[in-house]
Amino acid sequence: MRINHALRIAAGVAALALAVTACGGGSSKSATQNAANGKLTIGIKFDQPGLGLLNKDGSHSGFDVDVATYVAGKLGVKPENITWKEAPSAQRETLIQNGQVDFIAATYSITDQRKQKVDFAGPYYIAGQSLLVRSDNTDITGPDSLNGNKKLCSVKGSTPAQYVKDHYAKEVQLQEYDTYSLCVEALKSGSVDAVTTDDIILRGYAAQSPGALKLVGQPFTTEKYGIGLKKGDTDSRGKINDAIQAMIDDGSWKAALEKEFGATGLQIPAPPQVDRY
Ligand code: GLU
Repeated sequence: MRINHALRIAAGVAALALAVTACGGGSSKSATQNAANGKLTIGIKFDQPGLGLLNKDGSHSGFDVDVATYVAGKLGVKPENITWKEAPSAQRETLIQNGQVDFIAATYSITDQRKQKVDFAGPYYIAGQSLLVRSDNTDITGPDSLNGNKKLCSVKGSTPAQYVKDHYAKEVQLQEYDTYSLCVEALKSGSVDAVTTDDIILRGYAAQSPGALKLVGQPFTTEKYGIGLKKGDTDSRGKINDAIQAMIDDGSWKAALEKEFGATGLQIPAPPQVDRY
């Protein structure tokens, strides 16, 4: 009888383990529930200087990392208890839906299409799509010069790539890579004419290659950066919104932007209005 009981429990545990594995090893707990246990897994970019960068010493830096670390702190999680996970543009919704991350802070624009799959706290920054070219380029000066079959690089699953498809499909050749750092390499080597994504991202790359690359024209879209989290998790979203507001109110938001982008000449904008939809 006892053995039978133990066996049944063992079978139950095995079935549970299988179920967890089946959904990608992800957690079914909410961000705040995991935070209450002292740990968080947060999705960021690993290749975007000033925003989300994996450094040679294994540390992570950038404004997204600063925001995520601040939010984690407000949820009671110390920096050393954060697991950082790379969240490439095209994989963000899936990472959240599978529970592989608790939330994502990765230059992630809040859009109605994405809101069908995930929820967003924020916005915590407002960027705009722009263009990066080699410093000696004179024929690309802004979106109006996107013609003549020029080669433009952007990233799969990103809003800037979609914008080019929607507005300049016939005028330019769009090459979609997995990451912006690959686009920047292609730009430097001459295999594309321009990289397009948010101005703040391009600013980070331009600063990394002084004198070689330049941003041109004015931003031509509005990209509201949100913290993406599981759809329907209103408790976590409310707490993350409170944390973003606290970061703005106590000066840490401005200090983080100055630390990451001050040397690039960025005029720190007024903080955005946290949207409690
Ligand atoms: N903010 C845009 C987006 O969420 C572009 C940057 C990115 O791909 O991370 O798609």
